[in-house]
Amino acid sequence: MPFEYAPAPESRAIVDLESSYGLFIDGAFVDARGGTMFKTVNPATEEVLAEVSEAGADDVDRAVAAARIAYESVWGPMSGRDRAKYLFRIARLIQERSRELAVLESMDNGKPIRESRDVDLPLVAAHFFYHAGWADKLEHAGYGPHPRPLGVAAQVIPWNFPLLMLAWKVAPALACGNTVVLKPAETTPLTALAFADICRQADLPPGVVNILTGAGETGRLLVEHPGVDKVAFTGSTEVGKAIMRSAAGTGKRLTLELGGKAANVVFDDAPIDQAVEGIVNGIFFNQGHVCCAGSRLLLQESIADEVITSLKRRLGTLRLGDPLDKNTDIGAINSSSQLARIDELVKSGEDEGAERWSAPCAIPDRGWWFPPTVFTGVTQAHRIAREEIFGPVLSVLTFRTPDEAVEKANNTPYGLSAGIWTEKGSRILWMAQRLRAGVVWANTFNRFDPASPFGGYKESGFGREGGIQGLGGYLDVEGNR
Ligand code: NAD
Repeated sequence: MPFEYAPAPESRAIVDLESSYGLFIDGAFVDARGGTMFKTVNPATEEVLAEVSEAGADDVDRAVAAARIAYESVWGPMSGRDRAKYLFRIARLIQERSRELAVLESMDNGKPIRESRDVDLPLVAAHFFYHAGWADKLEHAGYGPHPRPLGVAAQVIPWNFPLLMLAWKVAPALACGNTVVLKPAETTPLTALAFADICRQADLPPGVVNILTGAGETGRLLVEHPGVDKVAFTGSTEVGKAIMRSAAGTGKRLTLELGGKAANVVFDDAPIDQAVEGIVNGIFFNQGHVCCAGSRLLLQESIADEVITSLKRRLGTLRLGDPLDKNTDIGAINSSSQLARIDELVKSGEDEGAERWSAPCAIPDRGWWFPPTVFTGVTQAHRIAREEIFGPVLSVLTFRTPDEAVEKANNTPYGLSAGIWTEKGSRILWMAQRLRAGVVWANTFNRFDPASPFGGYKESGFGREGGIQGLGGYLDVEGNR
């Protein structure tokens, strides 16, 4: 008898939504000069949550000018000790408001409340605490005795971890003494606007953090603005390449965190039950909207059938539905356009001859959803083995020897992350040395810590976020030019 759960919805009463939001420039919410607004929608219900301003060229000018003045007059000259006080205050406010922020994130993004509450928000606060700790110790970080900030940082982030990606960008920039103009993704602007309110609550000097909402054109105007010294982008490889072209020859410092197609490699001596949990966490966490998702499962041939059987059994127990229900494992797909992309790639997998299996779960009538899906019989030539799907879809390949596993794992234009499952420590080290990926997890997957640097090889981008290495992206040091 399957266990029946009663619904356990988190109340949305804690979120105080306004019907429309301005831009956050120089410490205040202001209307966009052009007056254009766009809607942000709850992907689980298609309900319009709020109207948000679309920043144009004038607004980008205003925000960059405010950030420049704040950099030169207040934030740049301030001692690291004083900057740390603001960052600690922001971190504490995030903790105090974490329930509200988690509910708001789940409403705007579609991710299960269990994830926003237990993963995203604790990591957001941890990121600010960690960087607050660095602000007055930068001369001990290995970047010389007097590390200097860069100036104004233009930061553009995606929709999959809206507040967490903001934290990865804003915390190190401020700790190092830079000021910020940040653009959240167009489908998930609300937690960035709540963060603007937290900056006000923390009495952060005006202009140190500016938030511009808008779509790709706003992002382009921001990163191409001649008044910015540093561009930090997280998003697709395609847009990353365009930004790199536009930054070439300008002297702007650039870090890019782009897409991925990670291999999760399971050897025949791995503990199968733990590996199955790791595979599920690797690709079905956050509906697979994860740049470092373990989207290619490489199974040693002798255990392939056993792992696939157990994986399907486990996926049959996942609960898809209301993101605000505390029992939900799989939430909504963030937008109709992302769902269309997943549909298209899944269809290509079927057309190219791979075998599709989807978990038998009921799909709600409204909103955008995709059931956990596994493709077997996948070869390297299939699109689903090469292209990032960014959805709850796993492609399974097999291998016979460790050398073959390494060759298949590295046979991708990306290089963001990888996973290894084996009980042999020597094999973990042997594999980790050969895998061309910025992060390699052993007997676990999708673990994050602010002290641990994150970033890619090849078309997954360059530069690191988190850890001592991440500070280098916001300091005027050799190697960052
Ligand atoms: P996207 O590149 O379409 O958009 C990302 C952001 O860039 C959005 O804010 C968007 O408005 C903005 N943008 C779009 N065109 C722009 C332009 N010409 N100039 C400046 N900004 C522009 O990506 P997405 O679909 O929102 O996000 C999914 C992608 O992000 C995936 O490929 C995923 O792997 C990647 N991602 C990477 C990481 C990482 O750390 N490596 C983390 C999360 C997501």
